[in-house]
Order: sequence, then C-alpha cells, then structure tokens
Amino acid sequence: MPSAESRREALKAVWQQAQTCAKCPQLASTRTKVVFGAGNADADLMFVGEAPGANEDKQGLPFVGQAGRLLDTLLGEIGLSRGDVFVVNTLKCRPPGNRDPLPTEIEACQDYLWRQLELIEPRVVCTLGNFATKLLRADQTGITRLHGREEVRRLGPRTVRLYPLYHPAAALYTPSMLEILRADFQRIPELLALEPPEQDAPPEVEPVVTAAAVEAVAEELAPVGAGREQAADAPAEAEEDDVPVAAEPAQLGLF
Ligand code: URA
Repeated sequence: MPSAESRREALKAVWQQAQTCAKCPQLASTRTKVVFGAGNADADLMFVGEAPGANEDKQGLPFVGQAGRLLDTLLGEIGLSRGDVFVVNTLKCRPPGNRDPLPTEIEACQDYLWRQLELIEPRVVCTLGNFATKLLRADQTGITRLHGREEVRRLGPRTVRLYPLYHPAAALYTPSMLEILRADFQRIPELLALEPPEQDAPPEVEPVVTAAAVEAVAEELAPVGAGREQAADAPAEAEEDDVPVAAEPAQLGLF
C-alpha cells in the first residue's frame, strides 16, 4: 500500500502535469489558471463541483467565491475546514463565459479526477449539484431525488460512499434549498464514521465518462451552469481576492 507521503508526492506530479495541459485547445487558450483542486492530500472526504468560475480561474483554486464561502460555513458547522477535505471540479479549466462544459472536455479531463481519487483515497465523495452527480453516477436521475442519499459506488479506480448534495451556488439563492443542504451536511460525520467501502467489491455500476454519456447528461443540465454563472457574476465575488488555503505548491493549496 503506498504511503500517504508517496501519494502526496504523486499528486503534486499530477498537479504539475495539469499546469500545462492542452488537451482542450480552447480551454487552454482562454483559462488564466488551471484549477486542479485543493485541500488535504490524504482527505477522507472529497467534494466534486462542476467547473471553475471566474474567481477560481483567477486564483487557481476551487470554490473561492460566494459559493465557496458557503461551503466553508457548512464545513465549519460540522467541525471541518478546507484543510480536512479535498475540493475538486469535474473540469479543471474554466469554460469561457461559464458555458457548460463540453462532452469532449469532460472526457479529456476525467483522468485527472480518476488520478485524484486514486491518490487521495477518499472514503466519502460528495458531488455538488446536478452536473457532477449525473456525470459521476452516469445516470440521468436528478439531484432533487438523490441529494442526501448515500450509496457505495465505484468511481474509476476507487470505490467510495457517494453522497450527492445540492450545489452551494444554487443554495445561495434559494433559502429552502440551503436548509436541505445544511441538513444533508449534518449527516457527513456519520458517513465518515462508517467502515470504508471494500475496494475490491464488485461495482454496482462502473461509470465510464464517455463523450456520448456526457452528451446525454448535458441535455438535461440547462440550470446547472446557471448556478456557477450566478456565483461568478455576483459583484461580491468579482472583487474578491481572498485565498482560503495555504499553498504548496502555490496553486495547489495542498495540505
Ligand atoms: N462552482 C463550481 O462548480 N466549482 C467551482 O470551483 C466554483 C463554483
């Protein structure tokens, strides 16, 4: 079994590789920074959002705007902080104008997520919102039905407890959704306390993120990009320049 230190070093190497990634020519030319993900390289808990917005693109760190502040608050309410978890997106570069990620982009980027899951070895993975949930479950069932319901799932190289949650950007604008998100968050400690899922258990379904699968998901995702857009467009965010995590290497925000 690789040690936490060797996994951390391998994660840094993947971070380094991602810095110059040009698999998506348009994103490589329009991004300011690659938003690889940030947090504890040995976290039991991982959050997966959709794609970086304007602030994330500027800072090279995930969830640094209003939605990120809400994420921090909700984490604080269960006694956790960014230094305890790892936060990533399905797509590591900002789609220009906050358009929805293209199927080809998601497919090109998925190996980074698989490597992150393999190296960080989380037990619990929370998908944030419809996009990440549909994509990682390779299924059209929406977040309204799935939020707060954990299931053991294989995500590429790793079997985890998958726990879909509403996207914090959506909850910012809908108080009833915020209360549901908050209640779902309260169950995270309980999930973390469960035995980790067997890694060699046969997967129920192994999601394979092909362009065709993403295309199918993308058809139903009109409101999802909107959450990111709202957050990115909010004036409070546009002026924000706080960086919430210690940096090492600078843009990895790795603990
Ligand atoms: N929304 C996301 O899905 N990811 C971010 O990093 C920021 C906002």
